[in-house]
Amino acid sequence: VADITAVKGVKDILPEEVPRWEEAERRFRAVFGNYGYREIRIPTFEDTQLFRRSIGEETDIVEKEMYTFTDKGGSSITLRPEGTASVVRAFIEHSMAHLPQPVKLFYLGPMFRHERPQKGRLRQFHQAGAEVFGLAGPEAEAELLEMVMQLLTREFGLQDLSLQVNTLGDDACRPAYRQALTGYLEIHRHGLCENCRRRLERNPLRVLDCKAEGCRAIARGAPVIGGVLCGECRSHFDRFLSLLDEAGVPHQVNPHLVRGLDYYTRTTFEVLGGSGLGAQNAVAAGGRYDNLVAAFGGPPTPGLGFALGMERLLALLPPEFAGTGPRVLYLAAADGEGRLLARSLARSQRARGVAVALDLLGRSLKAQMRAADSMGAAWVVVLGAQEAASGRCVLKEMTGGWREEIALADLGTALERRM
Ligand code: ATP
Ligand code: MG
Repeated sequence: VADITAVKGVKDILPEEVPRWEEAERRFRAVFGNYGYREIRIPTFEDTQLFRRSIGEETDIVEKEMYTFTDKGGSSITLRPEGTASVVRAFIEHSMAHLPQPVKLFYLGPMFRHERPQKGRLRQFHQAGAEVFGLAGPEAEAELLEMVMQLLTREFGLQDLSLQVNTLGDDACRPAYRQALTGYLEIHRHGLCENCRRRLERNPLRVLDCKAEGCRAIARGAPVIGGVLCGECRSHFDRFLSLLDEAGVPHQVNPHLVRGLDYYTRTTFEVLGGSGLGAQNAVAAGGRYDNLVAAFGGPPTPGLGFALGMERLLALLPPEFAGTGPRVLYLAAADGEGRLLARSLARSQRARGVAVALDLLGRSLKAQMRAADSMGAAWVVVLGAQEAASGRCVLKEMTGGWREEIALADLGTALERRM
């Protein structure tokens, strides 16, 4: 088995990286909580139909990126490529429309897409996302984006972010836009990739989101929705923009921004990170999906949400973003009595919540001191017959900042004072 490695595009998160993840997740939970979101833990796999029907047949995700398999019972199962579909399913399945509205939910966890692995693009990656149900007005989008941008700029200290916003209209005005777009794309049909030529009939908006160079060039010249927006979509979008101004959230209107999922109505947005991310520079994205709950058989309920790529966020954070885990007390033993004492002190200090290391290899005191140093222990106590007899010891800071003679019984409180 020596030649078995992790699957392509899938990464171990090693112990030295885990504090960054934990710290980032802690801040997400704190800020989501401040805005009234509660955590939901959705399953990592679902009935394949859930994703086909919500994300849309003509999308990159459904066409080529899903991990789909038939289980032993013959059911078609898919590893979740995103979180919204599951949250919407759970909202309906648990009758959350009967709860006081809005219902605000967030999730954190791995997603799976069979993509070409490259910088910032993995096959198992992690998202933090949030969904809001029951709010139809633009105040909802504005608050959601205020939260997202507060998270990124204040909580994570990021600069050079660009928030791009757009509207895709609704059932009243999108058909006219689709028609205008289809007309334009038909003229440029020869320049489109094979996928997009096929998408043209069924879902021309998809073409605007295609990553192929030829399609992107054609997309840049495509008609924009602005001209055909219905009155309600127009005033929703205008009000949304002025609420962003009021909240002091900088943004650019990008009339060509469509998203890779079919379910959006009206507002869509994307947050682009600085140049540090290379080609994969979208950090977060989302939008409004007022038809999705009803499309799955739930009571008509407006919804909106966003998802953020954790790997791309962490790539933007400086190395000093998170500490290195707990500070460790090293209990070094000079002799047999010292070892006995070290084991018992380790037991009582760990019970108090102190991280303790001690030697279990019978190494010399000198070797133990080297071990304490190389593991980066914060404090050391040397224990031996003398300490056992007197009930006192010397607590020493590893970097040599200070030392203090204390009773063994006071070790816990002495550490608390120093923490
Ligand atoms: P992209 O345009 O980069 O393919 P997307 O439109 O497919 O992104 P969404 O489905 O909106 O992305 O997911 C939200 C966020 O999740 C993205 O902005 C990105 O930060 C992250 N993300 C998406 N796919 C991947 C992936 N394969 N690897 C790492 N992060 C990803
Ligand atoms: Mg994608």
